[in-house]
Amino acid sequence: MDFRLTDEQLEFQRYCRKFATEVIRPVAEKYDREQSVPWEVIKAAREWNLHGVEHLMKMGSDPGGLFGVIYAEELHWGCAGIALAISASSLAAAGIAASGTPEQVGKWVPECFGEGDEIKIGAYAVTEAGAGSDVKSLRTTAKLDGDSGTGEWVINGTKVFISNGGIADVNVVVATVDADLGHRGQASFIVCKGTPGLSQGKKEDKLGIRASQTTEVVLEDVRVPMENLLGGKEKLDKKLERARSGQGGGKSNALATFEITRPMVGASALGIAQAAYEWTLEHLEGKADEHGPLLEQQRVQQVLADVATEIEASRLLVWRAAWMGRNGIPMTGGQGSMSKLKAGDVTMWATTELMDLVGEYAQTTDCPLEKFFRDAKIYQLFEGTAQVQRLVISRMQRQDHQTKHQEAAEVLQQAPGAAPGDPLEPEKEPATA
Ligand SMILES: Cc1cc2nc3c(=O)[nH]c(=O)nc-3n(C[C@H](O)[C@H](O)[C@H](O)COP(=O)(O)OP(=O)(O)OC[C@H]3O[C@@H](n4cnc5c(N)ncnc54)[C@H](O)[C@@H]3O)c2cc1C
Repeated sequence: MDFRLTDEQLEFQRYCRKFATEVIRPVAEKYDREQSVPWEVIKAAREWNLHGVEHLMKMGSDPGGLFGVIYAEELHWGCAGIALAISASSLAAAGIAASGTPEQVGKWVPECFGEGDEIKIGAYAVTEAGAGSDVKSLRTTAKLDGDSGTGEWVINGTKVFISNGGIADVNVVVATVDADLGHRGQASFIVCKGTPGLSQGKKEDKLGIRASQTTEVVLEDVRVPMENLLGGKEKLDKKLERARSGQGGGKSNALATFEITRPMVGASALGIAQAAYEWTLEHLEGKADEHGPLLEQQRVQQVLADVATEIEASRLLVWRAAWMGRNGIPMTGGQGSMSKLKAGDVTMWATTELMDLVGEYAQTTDCPLEKFFRDAKIYQLFEGTAQVQRLVISRMQRQDHQTKHQEAAEVLQQAPGAAPGDPLEPEKEPATA
């Protein structure tokens, strides 16, 4: 196992850090204060080939699967709010990729980014008041008006806390078509900017990631054509039929999307933790108190060592999950959720520890740690809260354990004369005198 980054990965990491240093950081404080959309930075990201379909294709081109998580960590190192403003369209693209036909993916994913100099934005709208973690309880409805061929879907409901809400050119809206079937009665629809009945509701005034716009998205008798149903009518009908007849299978559209994006969210959190750690190291360098230079005091070294170790451990989980995702290795043990959970918790914990280390100054808006601390919190909340990740991991671990146990038992049954030393050989009775 070789844990080193390849030359290409290293070069890409340096390129992303350069963009974060030269383009994002100089304007981070301004957008955080104004809580406005950083259009100029999104445009610059396109010019640097760090936004858009070509960029997405580059992310997918790394056989190790690490380009995406390197990108997320480095841009969030620059500013988490701006990085999310640049990359949130990818969540909409992931929603399309998770549920759409190849033709729909080819048509709508480019519409989430725009082509050439044109900048377009995507939003992925699932959450509702009363249906966040509990995705099966969505109340936004989609009803078919007309027949399967020419009919239109009529969508009604209000989505809350939607990143890029109100500014998105393409909204991927998850709605229920049969409320009795829970998540198996849901489908995803494309709703384009300007569609009658689509409007922006309340814009949230947030603690952190303030350069990323978060709003309600209101849908009142929004009509979309059949072709905007992701996956198509036939696939939806089959899914509903299976659910009604009590057959298993059929994943939630929303949960399938979040499975793809979890290591990226973990990497985003780590960008903040890494930035906070580096800033603290540089801030403490050369400072001293009555006990001598701070960086030579054991109480300081203990905290810095713990923070560095936890960041490194989280990064390994994130990179492993990204590698598994890229190489089609099923995350049966909840490895994607683990990576997001650990990185989110570590980032919140690390920014708090580092603030304690720095002292009063860290409480002021002059100190970068104050912003890192505010930006960190969301990574324990969105795309599955930390508590919900724990539930997912726990269930998957249990299932994984049962499967492995069963597989091992089957192997033993098939090979009664397994060679001595075979790791699957049952433990021998201890010899009796
Ligand atoms: C800035 C921001 C951006 C967002 N962007 C988007 C977006 O682009 N698209 C989108 O669809 N959504 C988005 N969200 C919504 C986000 O994904 C939800 O807030 C999140 O899923 C939690 O849902 P909730 O707020 O309804 O909390 P709830 O589900 O009501 O949970 C409240 C608390 O209860 C805990 N809890 C819930 N169920 C359990 C359980 N079974 N066991 C133990 N604890 C439990 C949770 O962990 C949490 O602590 C965004 C949110 C924010 C704040």
